[in-house]
Amino acid sequence: MSDCLFCKMVAGEVPADVVYEDEEVLVFKDIAPKAEVHLLMIPKQHTESLDTLSEADDAVVARMMRKLPIIAQEQGLESGFRTIINTGAGGGQVVFHLHMHLLGGKNLPGFG
Ligand code: AMP
Ligand code: ZN
Repeated sequence: MSDCLFCKMVAGEVPADVVYEDEEVLVFKDIAPKAEVHLLMIPKQHTESLDTLSEADDAVVARMMRKLPIIAQEQGLESGFRTIINTGAGGGQVVFHLHMHLLGGKNLPGFG
């Protein structure tokens, strides 16, 4: 997806403040953090959102979920963290490359 911001980050064409990378996944700091720690985790292979996942994506999505608490620990979020996945315009999605928000620390916005 040549016009996708997050694909450009994967390709190194747009700078990203990377905190973790492997062959399938990239994790970087959100440019407009909503909490003390605010990271975005993406699959390197483009898919738009939860809406566009297929069975072929099951392994990478499971891997991302399993990686989240490990990265949260590495960021010092000992007492927990919040994960958000916005799906579609109606769900508040702005960048249409699947991403998981990982939030924690001070100033964590909440539901209550
Ligand atoms: P969403 O509303 O779930 O699509 O979230 C998109 C997120 O991407 C927002 O939290 C933005 O702050 C973040 N974002 C947009 N551009 C960049 C960028 N160049 N580097 C890092 N994060 C970005
Ligand atoms: Zn993309």
